[in-house]
Amino acid sequence: MRTPLLAGNWKMNGSADLVEAFGRAFAEAELPEGIEVVIFPPFPYLDAARRAFADTPLRLGAQSLNPLHSGAHTGEVSGRMLCEFGVRYALVGHSERRQLYREGDAQVFDRLLAALSVGLTPVLCVGETLEERDAGRTMEVVLRQVGFVMSRLEPEQRPRVVIAYEPVWAIGTGRTATPEQAQEVMAGIRDYQASYDRELADGLRLLYGGSMNAGNAAELLAQPDIDGGLVGGASLKVDDFLAICQSA
Ligand code: PGA
Repeated sequence: MRTPLLAGNWKMNGSADLVEAFGRAFAEAELPEGIEVVIFPPFPYLDAARRAFADTPLRLGAQSLNPLHSGAHTGEVSGRMLCEFGVRYALVGHSERRQLYREGDAQVFDRLLAALSVGLTPVLCVGETLEERDAGRTMEVVLRQVGFVMSRLEPEQRPRVVIAYEPVWAIGTGRTATPEQAQEVMAGIRDYQASYDRELADGLRLLYGGSMNAGNAAELLAQPDIDGGLVGGASLKVDDFLAICQSA
């Protein structure tokens, strides 16, 4: 009943050529029925991607957005601008934004709210560091990140949020969480939502992220509470990302 979502987060990678290659490959690709596939390229490629992906099932996402609609914020991009380029999704709270750009829960919430206000689907990223996991604090950290945002939303806004569980120690390290580890945390996120709204919890789309690749995707995606993936490194190779989508 939950639509699987496969997302490719290119981060500060990719090129105009890669955009074209994805457009060509996905125009012909056979994908499982009923899945959603979204590419999050760097901002400068959005316009080209919109054109290259026009005859493909690929949708467009943005890696970040400013909480405001316009103004004197050099270097920033607003949700309204993204909508003009056909963007439908926006990442918020990615651990690289939290760590490298000091975005805390409050800023993550503001960005998520900005995304909702212009009709974008926010993908809220959460996850613990290795230190936190080793200290047995995984669930506490993840539920704090989820709860901070969800508890501040209006009930009708909550079903529009997608949550990506990305253990920080698994991102870009080649060290994937085991399907059991991922399932445990993701079931915990769903149970937490269910404690105040069962229907919301049942419909909530949960993605796993962190060194997902063509070799481990099927096993991860087979877990009952994993509804899709947020893929970094492996989304930069057309064949690998296609194989991941096909294992959904
Ligand atoms: P990775 O990145 O697949 O390269 O680990 C995932 C992410 O950061 O979204």
